[in-house]
Amino acid sequence: MTRRLTGFQPTGNLHLGNLLGAMRPLVAAQDDPATTDSIAMIADLHALTVEHDPQRLRANSLDVATLLLAAGVDPGRTALIANSQVPEHSELHYLLECVTGYGEAARMIQFKEKSAAGGPVRLSLLTYPVLMAADILLHDIDHVPVGDDQSQHLELARDIAVRFNNRYGPTFTVPEAIRPGAAERIMDLTDPTRKMSKSSVNPAGRIGLLDPPDVIRRKVSRAVTDTVGVVRHDPEGQPGVTNLLEILRACTGEEPGAFTSYGQLKREVTDAIEAVLAPVRARHAELSDDPGHLQKILAEGRARVRPRAEETVRKVRAALGLLD
Ligand code: ATP
Ligand code: MG
Repeated sequence: MTRRLTGFQPTGNLHLGNLLGAMRPLVAAQDDPATTDSIAMIADLHALTVEHDPQRLRANSLDVATLLLAAGVDPGRTALIANSQVPEHSELHYLLECVTGYGEAARMIQFKEKSAAGGPVRLSLLTYPVLMAADILLHDIDHVPVGDDQSQHLELARDIAVRFNNRYGPTFTVPEAIRPGAAERIMDLTDPTRKMSKSSVNPAGRIGLLDPPDVIRRKVSRAVTDTVGVVRHDPEGQPGVTNLLEILRACTGEEPGAFTSYGQLKREVTDAIEAVLAPVRARHAELSDDPGHLQKILAEGRARVRPRAEETVRKVRAALGLLD
């Protein structure tokens, strides 16, 4: 039996890349009898690592939770939690900081990129991957689906687990990265050399999960292509066209056929995205009418994971020589 954890930062603007790359595989795994006790985690503590607005953070966290349910997360099979609501995440984070080198954290690509972007850098941005390690190791997670952007952080979590086990005795399950499958990396529609991202400033580059049909059509029709004039899967030479083909493949679950023009490809991509997003939009509208329901699901998720989290922290404290 394997347990998996998928995390989502509540930084707003959830997009098609999040759905195809992370939410759908999570939902699909619910039907896999080998996967049990999985966790979908709102990483609201991680959202504090960069400048944030408290009111917006709270709204975004509730929105991620609602969208996860709208996308098919079944709280009976997947515990839906926010990492801030399970205090053992923070406690283990600190304890793991004590077995992590400054140099290890400072060489993380995401830290280098985000800290070079200008503006004040929070200390928590440096320790972000250690919090992520705590999120994973706390719950004895076997499998973490990660896109390219998180694979270095997962490597660090594994290093921390192995080091702790060697130095202080067997304590942690060493997690493995798994490739989420079909859509590992959906690219930005306006700049297909960058991944589609919540935090990118240009909304034209991403398809929001709640974008209405006319917005989807407009964004796809304006997606950057090239002057080659032939629809080919060629990530190097035709990254924009290739991204559209990848989106189509991920949305339909089938290999795309042949296309005579970019216009024809874009029309088909628009229809495929709409077919995927329409049910999510409808379910989101239903769920948004009942915020109490959401709070109840988060409380249930917390209650479900808490005993194991407490047990992990108890073991770690004992192994490190802290008083009971
Ligand atoms: P941010 O810009 O705030 O980091 P993000 O778009 O990268 O936002 P995350 O919250 O970091 O989103 O990631 C949530 C999940 O979605 C992760 O499993 C991540 O690997 C996946 N994911 C993010 N972007 C993409 C993408 N463009 N294509 C496929 N999967 C993605
Ligand atoms: Mg990200």
